[in-house]
Amino acid sequence: MVNHSFQIGVIGAGAAGMMAAAEAARSGASVVLVEKNRKPGVKILMSGGTRCNITHHTNAKGISRAFGAGGRFLQPSLGAFPPEKVVRMFEDLGVATKVEETGKVFPVSDRALHVRDALLNQALELGVKVHTEQPVLGFQSKGQGGWEILTSTDHYDVQRLIVTAGGKSWPGCGTTGDAYPWLTELGHQIVAPRPALVPLVGGSSWMHDLAGLTLTDCEVSVVDKLNRSRKPLARRRGSLLITHRGFSGPAAMDVSGALTAMDSPEDVEVLLDSLPSVNENQLIDHLTDRSREGGRQRIATLLAHLLPKRLAIMMAQQFNADCTVAELPKTTRLRLLDAVKRLPLSITGTLGFDKAEVTAGGVQLDEIHPKTMESRICPGLYIAGEVLNVDGPIGGYNFQAAFSTGRAAGIAAAKSLE
Ligand SMILES: Cc1cc2nc3c(=O)[nH]c(=O)nc-3n(C[C@H](O)[C@H](O)[C@H](O)COP(=O)(O)OP(=O)(O)OC[C@H]3O[C@@H](n4cnc5c(N)ncnc54)[C@H](O)[C@@H]3O)c2cc1C
Repeated sequence: MVNHSFQIGVIGAGAAGMMAAAEAARSGASVVLVEKNRKPGVKILMSGGTRCNITHHTNAKGISRAFGAGGRFLQPSLGAFPPEKVVRMFEDLGVATKVEETGKVFPVSDRALHVRDALLNQALELGVKVHTEQPVLGFQSKGQGGWEILTSTDHYDVQRLIVTAGGKSWPGCGTTGDAYPWLTELGHQIVAPRPALVPLVGGSSWMHDLAGLTLTDCEVSVVDKLNRSRKPLARRRGSLLITHRGFSGPAAMDVSGALTAMDSPEDVEVLLDSLPSVNENQLIDHLTDRSREGGRQRIATLLAHLLPKRLAIMMAQQFNADCTVAELPKTTRLRLLDAVKRLPLSITGTLGFDKAEVTAGGVQLDEIHPKTMESRICPGLYIAGEVLNVDGPIGGYNFQAAFSTGRAAGIAAAKSLE
């Protein structure tokens, strides 16, 4: 067994861990960052389609609002390190950034590698010792805020411990939910982890025939089947990708958490509005106008002016509207309108943790000080990043939360040593 002694130990070299370690070291503390993978920041490297959507072009309030219930908890750490400061940090580290039309912030180079390297080099330059290929097996308190961290070969004696081991999503990145049992043993409550920002499985065979098609502007809603008039449980306007197994893209993935939160997913229905910019009355008027003009236009052609052509043709076929506007019976017209505005997607599930971009659930937030990320149960223990019960939508929100909470933990852990 190799023995090490550091003032601060950080478990997990992801976005939150590299940030926490760097900030702790900036205050002069000796810091070790212990990571199970061969390379730090593996999830960063694959994020945003390997472009890494660092944050969102908004202020701290805009970020915390997007987190819903978890937003209030995030306010103090986001206030101290809002998106503009994240952007400034990366610019100072040599990573120029750009804001895309959607508000997502990316490196100008479109390379996630540059983001990971900037965070890692910052930590190394501040003196952080990064120990990779060291899967932590567990840790135990030695009193007075001090801890012993154990791997199969090494033993770390630290005065403060920061846990940033992530959640359970995309386990191929090393995130296999290791921290949950450790923290449960110490008395923390873990809100049951579940996949979020995950592609949906389902759809009928004719939809699968459209695999590869992207609807650039549509709206997906999750509604309570028993009470359709109620406000949807989740609703997201954006792009949707039809896949061989179901649906992906922001509009589908952003509502997935509402499905995985249900005890009985069969109680909800997922509806697609393929044309959110046109309301039902406008659509009826459009059909009526074409009818008045003689109605010789085919329904598929008319729909193709409003929807992607492949979808227009398929809808006309599927809803018995393979005819001209004049030939369209009233009942079929209503069914077609329904299909355009409220198409049930027949969702049967999701692709699960294997393909989820984040984990919803995690360490219960009222057990953590929101300004310092210190555990209210175990003094000297700090918990940050996705292992907490916070999950945001697609758009850079999740990295932003990892950076802000990681930074808060690093600063507070170092300060507590003074
Ligand atoms: C495919 C994909 C794309 C994404 N794209 C984006 C995006 O563009 N923008 C965005 O905001 N969010 C994105 N996310 C979400 C984002 O990556 C996470 O929210 C973020 O990485 C969480 O940071 P973290 O530091 O808390 O955890 P992680 O980045 O998951 O890091 C945890 C680290 O702890 C290590 N670890 C775990 N257990 C142990 C152990 N026992 N011993 C030692 N080390 C351990 C892991 O190996 C890992 O390196 C994406 C996620 C995925 C899966």
